[in-house]
Amino acid sequence: MGKPTGFLEYARELPPELPPLQRIRNWDEFHLPMDEAALRAQGARCMDCGTPFCHTGMILGGAASGCPINNLIPEWNDLVYRGLWREALERLHKTNNFPEFTGRVCPAPCEGACVLGIIRPPVTIKAIECAIADRGWESGWITPRPPQKRTGKKVAIVGSGPAGLSCADQLNRAGHWVTVYERADRVGGLLMYGIPNMKLDKRVVQRRVDLLAQEGIRFITNCEVGRDLPAGKLLEEYDAVVLCCGATKPRDLPVEGRNLKGIHFAMEFLTANTKRLLGGGADHDFIDARGRDVIVVGGGDTGTDCVATALRQGCRSVLQLEILPKPPETRAPNNPWPEWPRIFRVDYGQEEAAAVQGEDPRRYRTTVVRFLGDETGHVKGVRTVMVDWQKDAQGRFTPVPVPGTEQTLPAQLVLLAMGFLGPEDTILDQLELERDPRGNVKAEYGRFQTSVPRVFAAGDMRRGQSLVVWAINEGRACAREVDRFLMGQTVLP
Ligand SMILES: Cc1cc2nc3c(=O)[nH]c(=O)nc-3n(C[C@H](O)[C@H](O)[C@H](O)COP(=O)(O)OP(=O)(O)OC[C@H]3O[C@@H](n4cnc5c(N)ncnc54)[C@H](O)[C@@H]3O)c2cc1C
Ligand code: SF4
Repeated sequence: MGKPTGFLEYARELPPELPPLQRIRNWDEFHLPMDEAALRAQGARCMDCGTPFCHTGMILGGAASGCPINNLIPEWNDLVYRGLWREALERLHKTNNFPEFTGRVCPAPCEGACVLGIIRPPVTIKAIECAIADRGWESGWITPRPPQKRTGKKVAIVGSGPAGLSCADQLNRAGHWVTVYERADRVGGLLMYGIPNMKLDKRVVQRRVDLLAQEGIRFITNCEVGRDLPAGKLLEEYDAVVLCCGATKPRDLPVEGRNLKGIHFAMEFLTANTKRLLGGGADHDFIDARGRDVIVVGGGDTGTDCVATALRQGCRSVLQLEILPKPPETRAPNNPWPEWPRIFRVDYGQEEAAAVQGEDPRRYRTTVVRFLGDETGHVKGVRTVMVDWQKDAQGRFTPVPVPGTEQTLPAQLVLLAMGFLGPEDTILDQLELERDPRGNVKAEYGRFQTSVPRVFAAGDMRRGQSLVVWAINEGRACAREVDRFLMGQTVLP
């Protein structure tokens, strides 16, 4: 611990951001780097607690508490305080294959569990993580390190999101020949087509993918396993197969008028936008919010990304509907530290919408009962109602419409961002894989072995829609089990 009194001397500081009205003029990342002195002072706030809850990574109250990949946070905070950046990077890479991704997009459950958070604002962990990784790249410390020896074993990984990439990285380090199949034209899963460029610049993703390729991982894009290549063929050609296909089936809103034109799933909108930005994608796939009133159904992160994207495209107005009640401003009594704080937050998209429109775009306890169309079959509005959350006969909270609260809102573009239902069926059907009760691939956490020998599963495909940091956790842990299966023992953490 560098400075025992640091937490008393320095206040929490976050990286500066471009003002909302300025940043919505382009697609660039809007977090600016913190200067070195500020970062070191923030590192000094870490108390190196006897029990560092920040790196425990437990599930408490249904959400992650602490870092799911057990980043050695107090150690690198101290190294940063002392200006030992390269050493900090080495510690960080021990647990995290891609700190430049989590440092940008992780919701930072570590900070929710920081012991300092009991009495003061927590340590600025995520920004320090990002700064360590960025400095590593800028200083040329992150270079290809292909394995010294090859085992001769071959592993196929299907899906190139953070689960597939971390699994590939680990297995390659263990000396196996790894091939990653991806149906999209670019590698990265939701890191590439999902999370928008202003949160995670696609050059940052591509830079890491290029490094993995230089280390010997083979990437095959534009290849949908199950359609372009029968899933069974992989079992003939490889010693093991790891499925990391994500949870890509979107939840629909099957109410009257759903088939009108202008109603799209969030991922169609976000993917087409990033494709255009990167100079690809067919024009007919592009969904344009320019000049339109946009309604985003769903108050989560995906919905927020839609709000921010619609604003950058030049929409006339944007609203975000959320069926749940507005969370409290501070922790509720039943949500104590070190649980993830379920509190009201203003994310970047809402901040931007408020700057443009004068108020937060979210409408709580609100759902859509009907879509309204014009004479050409295009959506022109949504009929909404407010709900009350009441317990049903089984004691489960259910939304009950409140009479007299129906409202019509104008909308020429509606984006459905209501979460995901699990993985698609093709590969599961072809390999006759068992599913768990939620429809995900059945594979016990910690073992990752599916019901079919030599086939493993990790990431959102196994645990359901989650976070990048959990995908990295699963990819790493799954690689360890695959290595154990292939070699009889494992060298991987
Ligand atoms: C819009 C959006 C924003 C998000 N923002 C954040 C955020 O800010 N922070 C955060 O922590 N999490 C965020 N998440 C969640 C996070 O992105 C996911 O939890 C994470 O990417 C899951 O990783 P994965 O590797 O399991 O799957 P994915 O990232 O979904 O990758 C799966 C890959 O498999 C490919 N694939 C599927 N089927 C096949 C097939 N048959 N053949 C070949 N390839 C196939 C897909 O094309 C895809 O590239 C967000 C999610 C969405 C949708
Ligand atoms: S990966 Fe997420 S939870 Fe872990 S240290 Fe980084 S920001 Fe915190």
